[in-house]
Amino acid sequence: MAEVTEAEIREMTRQLIADVPPGDVDQFEFRGAQFDRGLALVQFPEGLGGLGLSSRRLQTAVDAELRAAGVTYHDLNINPIGIGMGAPVVLTYASDEQKQRLLRPMYTGEEIWCQMFSEPGAGSDVAGLASRAVRDGDEWVVNGQKVWTTLAHVSRWGMLVARTDPDQPKHRGLTYFLLDMESEGVDVRPLYQITGEAEFNEIFLTDVRIPHDRVFGDVGGGWAAAVTTLMNERVALGGGVPKQGTGPIGDLVRLWNERKGSLDPVTHDVMRDRVVDLWSRAEALRLTNWRAREASKSGNPGPEGSVGKLMSAEMNQHIYETCMDLMGADALAYEIGYERKRPDGLRLTGGAGAKYSFLRARANTIEGGTSEVMRNILGERVLGLPGDVRVDKDVNWVDVPRN
Ligand SMILES: Cc1cc2nc3c(=O)[nH]c(=O)nc-3n(C[C@H](O)[C@H](O)[C@H](O)COP(=O)(O)OP(=O)(O)OC[C@H]3O[C@@H](n4cnc5c(N)ncnc54)[C@H](O)[C@@H]3O)c2cc1C
Repeated sequence: MAEVTEAEIREMTRQLIADVPPGDVDQFEFRGAQFDRGLALVQFPEGLGGLGLSSRRLQTAVDAELRAAGVTYHDLNINPIGIGMGAPVVLTYASDEQKQRLLRPMYTGEEIWCQMFSEPGAGSDVAGLASRAVRDGDEWVVNGQKVWTTLAHVSRWGMLVARTDPDQPKHRGLTYFLLDMESEGVDVRPLYQITGEAEFNEIFLTDVRIPHDRVFGDVGGGWAAAVTTLMNERVALGGGVPKQGTGPIGDLVRLWNERKGSLDPVTHDVMRDRVVDLWSRAEALRLTNWRAREASKSGNPGPEGSVGKLMSAEMNQHIYETCMDLMGADALAYEIGYERKRPDGLRLTGGAGAKYSFLRARANTIEGGTSEVMRNILGERVLGLPGDVRVDKDVNWVDVPRN
């Protein structure tokens, strides 16, 4: 489709809402209709959830119309790993048939996705991973262990990276697979976080068979597909453009308004300065993300996506630490209940209560790559500073000492 104007795309969205009233249908039907009309991911090709636009800029207009009509579905809550990271990978690497099969149920949330990269011995250094895949005719046989796998317990598909050639340096011997999580030999076990929830899991893979046509990219070329996933992950986690004053900063302002009257004058003035400082910085980040979205082209983001990830992760922690300070001794009682459970979604975007969010925010500077690693990426790949020391870069993986 030729480029459409903002007014046209807003009209298309209003028509969707009129034809498929969100109050009368369920999530799957509404989001399915949104996908079919190309209003899911506007920069994707027609027939695959988009309108073939040259940037994702006008998605903001679609989202704004949906919000104005009271539609609360949010990609990050519906299928964060699928929509944020799986969709661009499918678009870049899958066959046409796979794109048709996978993208729609991913967008509606009928099929949840997970990312199977991290292992007990490979997190920041994910290219050093040890899970093995060995070819057997038209199939691959995978053995190994993954860890911290968010939403694996409700996932239908896993983006799995495994080592197919140990006699190559670590980045070169990897292959990227699409794993059907219902396959025999996939054992998913919960891991509980500080919040009491088991959002993530450890996964044991024993003689798991994957058809060869579920290799994304080239055999041995898995690192490129992994980088595509990671760059999109950073934008998905840190590149949001929420409505002004909502999300974590909204939680803080709400708490400030509730509590400010009960503070002594000195504490009041100190806390007011902190709240205003954070509000200004949260707004600057929101506008920076907005500008990045306006300037974005279709295709995969580059290393600059790490800016939003780094800043939003640290901002969330500062915001919820300030919430705790505002609450004083009340912050110590966790009266919202501490239940061990396996949630079927994530609560990454605020609004879940300050005490819960304070605990959950600890993970923000680890998940999707730690803040130290984000700073390394920005230093090396955006600012052009000298690289980190990498002694194993050109050594065959099998010869690298490990415990
Ligand atoms: C809530 C949550 C959800 C997650 N979900 C997933 C998921 O769905 N799928 C998945 O595959 N993984 C997931 N992860 C794993 C996450 O990607 C890793 O935890 C992260 O990349 C760090 O790896 P690690 O835990 O092995 O720590 P390590 O890599 O062992 O790092 C330990 C410390 O060393 C520092 N460090 C390491 N290397 C360097 C360096 N070169 N320079 C400076 N400092 C360095 C780190 O910053 C960190 O402070 C999740 C993690 C969390 C917390």
